Formats: sequence, structure tokens, C-alpha cells
Amino acid sequence: MNIILIGPPGAGKGTQAEGLTKRFGIPHISTGAMLRAEVAAGSALGKKAKTIMAAGGLVPDALLIQVLTQRLAAEDCARGFILDGFPRNLPQAEALDAMLAARGQHLDAVVALHVDEAVLAARIAGRREITHRADDNPETVKARLAAYHEETTPLLPYYAAQTKLFVVDSMAAPAVVQREIVALLDTKIAAPVTA
Ligand code: AMP
Repeated sequence: MNIILIGPPGAGKGTQAEGLTKRFGIPHISTGAMLRAEVAAGSALGKKAKTIMAAGGLVPDALLIQVLTQRLAAEDCARGFILDGFPRNLPQAEALDAMLAARGQHLDAVVALHVDEAVLAARIAGRREITHRADDNPETVKARLAAYHEETTPLLPYYAAQTKLFVVDSMAAPAVVQREIVALLDTKIAAPVTA
């Protein structure tokens, strides 16, 4: 099962992806986490990504597409994956479609997590206390939200046109949101309509 989670920073993508990983036994692939690991390791990619991430911008598509192509080729993705943080814009979405088509695969569902902006701000402020993510400071969060609105929201009509988009209200408790996602994946995907 190949799933994408889309949503603004603080929408709960990471939390929901962790639950889905356990439930379906497929890996949670967070490009943000992969980039943070590269930054921590001081790799060439990490060095390129560091300042962009600190400013809340998007790391160049070519780098991300390369990282993801390698990651999806790994053995643990054979039965599927839960993508969190990729694609972030239309060129990345098109690259992903091409990547999957080249393997004879396709996306099963794109789950968009909706949270009102005021709730997001409070959530991110709370998360900063726990995770100390460098990019959870108010200024960077503003830039990340702007990047989401400008670059990522065009993915919603893109996937709606492919009839793969499901919008879930992510303001409820995480467990409630998780149940809703699992229910929609079970009904829409696990039980395909037969002729
Ligand atoms: P995230 O953990 O998904 O919020 O990502 C943290 C940061 O990593 C983002 O603000 C971007 O700077 C960078 N990043 C993560 N995924 C991508 C992507 N698919 N394309 C470009 N930049 C990304």
C-alpha cells in the first residue's frame, strides 16, 4: 500500500505516519527526518540543506528526488510505504508518479490532514518544548507555512484529479484521526471494488 500524508507543519503527519506504520507494517518515510539526519552527520547533502531548512524554505527538488529514489528502492518498501513530507510541490509529485510507474507501481491514497491555522501555531509552539527542532521557532514556522501554501497546496487538486485525495479533519485527538484514516484506507483500498 503506497500512501502519502500531506499537511502543513503541525498537522500531525509524523504522529499519524507512526501509527500507520505499526498498523500496516510498511515504513514511514519522512524526508524531513532524513534531511535532519544528513545535517547531523555533516554530509555534503546536509551541508546544502542546513541553511535552507533553518530558513524554512524547500531544499532543491533534484536533491530530494535523488534521496527518495534511493530510499524507495530499499527492500523494506517492497510492500509499500507511508510518505511524510514528500512530495512538497508539483515537480516532486510528477517525479514520484514517474518513479512509481517505472516500477509498475502506483499511489493508493493521498491523505490530506486539515488543521485550522490558529491551532497549528499552538501545536508547533508546544512541540518546540518537546523536540527542540531548530525550525520550530516562530519565524521559521511562518516561512514553512508560506511554503506550504504556495508550493504544496497545488498538490490537492492534482491528486483530487487522480481521485486519490482524502481530506481528514486533523483537529481531533490523534487516536481519533488515526481511526478515521485507517477506516478510509480499509474501505477505499483494502477492499477494492470488484467487477
Ligand atoms: P518536515 O520535517 O517535513 O517539516 O521538513 C523539514 C524541512 O526539511 C522543510 O522545512 C524543508 O526545508 C526540508 N524538506 C523536507 N522534505 C522536503 C521536500 N520534499 N522538498 C524540499 N524540502 C524538504
